[in-house]
Amino acid sequence: MQTSKNYDVAVIGAGVFGAWIAYHLQRSGKTIVLLDAYGVANSRASSGGESRVIRMGYGADEIYTRWAMRSLALWQEFFRQVDEPLFHRTGVLWMARQDDPYSVSSTRTLQKLGVRFEKLARAELEQRYPQIAFGSVTWGILEPDSGALMARRAVQRVVQETLKSGADYLPEAVETPTCPTGNARLASLTTRSGLSVRAANFIFACGPWLPKLFPDLLTDCIHPTRQEVFFFGVDPGDRRFASPLLPVWIDFGDEIYGIPDLENRGFKIAPDRHGPLFDPDKGERVVTTEGLSAVRKFLAQRFPGLKDAPLLETRVCQYENTSNGDFLIDRHPAFDNVWLVGGGSGHGFKHGPALGEYVAARVVEGSTVEPRFTLATKGKVQKRTVF
Ligand SMILES: Cc1cc2nc3c(=O)[nH]c(=O)nc-3n(C[C@H](O)[C@H](O)[C@H](O)COP(=O)(O)OP(=O)(O)OC[C@H]3O[C@@H](n4cnc5c(N)ncnc54)[C@H](O)[C@@H]3O)c2cc1C
Repeated sequence: MQTSKNYDVAVIGAGVFGAWIAYHLQRSGKTIVLLDAYGVANSRASSGGESRVIRMGYGADEIYTRWAMRSLALWQEFFRQVDEPLFHRTGVLWMARQDDPYSVSSTRTLQKLGVRFEKLARAELEQRYPQIAFGSVTWGILEPDSGALMARRAVQRVVQETLKSGADYLPEAVETPTCPTGNARLASLTTRSGLSVRAANFIFACGPWLPKLFPDLLTDCIHPTRQEVFFFGVDPGDRRFASPLLPVWIDFGDEIYGIPDLENRGFKIAPDRHGPLFDPDKGERVVTTEGLSAVRKFLAQRFPGLKDAPLLETRVCQYENTSNGDFLIDRHPAFDNVWLVGGGSGHGFKHGPALGEYVAARVVEGSTVEPRFTLATKGKVQKRTVF
């Protein structure tokens, strides 16, 4: 069997989580190998989409607002350094109804943490966004400094920089680690092609694949669900559905959100409701006719100017949901030097930089993990509270 050199850390999975973990560890002076079965931010990965929303509002969940704030700063600093404009500051508009508790508590958290936002009454919404028919929406929150990240390219850029500063990359599929009974430290892992990878620490950031790699531990804790995404074309020269006239928008009550036309790819719209269970390896990625007609119906009501807009592109991706939407960051119960990181639950992308920093600090300093991220707190029944 071929054996790799001995690394400080092997990071398995080059999605947004693995990429930023490797980036921070590399900067802290560790020797790193990053492995991915299908390639960096590949088409099956949850991070492989065109764009992802970055917003600060998280209801009363202050920890995620803090992480989103930290992440936005790190994303922007990174894009400045590498001179690539992969963040679009479109603003993010939350559409709310009368006493919508999530939106009300978001305003409190944003205020407390000093995040800039505007509370807009229905009349102001109508005046600023005449291209939107607000229906039952009665007020809104605008986060002017938030927006959208060009997801796939951003992850690829983070990995590129990490490799440039000395990390290694292996296009290998890793097998589930095994160890002689009683040995609490993993010395190496094996890839499907027969390579043995040696490291002092192993971090599995395998997104929706985590339950496949650790079935006994994670099958009931992480549920990959099928999610559909649609891109519609606007009329020639019509800029009403692009930034700056249209921000990213989220209709929390109707569980749907959209991203204005970025880089001329079309108006993106996606339901946030969890779809059926999905296999990230074998699942076919074609949207359903029911999904398309539901989205068209919503479009006709909320964005009447797009009623007859042609469908340009579609994607099927998967969320990797924990029971309530909290991330998973913990040591493997059988190995002191194996970490499990995932459970992005449809909202993880934005947090890549802060999560990477957090995990790197845990690995380097050995500090404890926030209880809500641990395996012990992961429920088995789906009951979403973090969005
Ligand atoms: C449609 C959709 C819309 C979303 N919108 C948003 C949004 O607007 N804002 C937001 O913040 N978040 C959003 N998310 C969530 C976010 O994209 C995910 O939480 C995040 O990308 C998860 O990243 P990850 O690195 O954990 O997983 P992935 O990106 O899936 O990466 C895991 C990697 O592990 C690799 N891997 C798996 N098994 C192995 C193995 N055995 N050996 C080697 N490599 C392996 C895979 O090839 C893959 O590249 C959305 C997700 C979807 C699907």
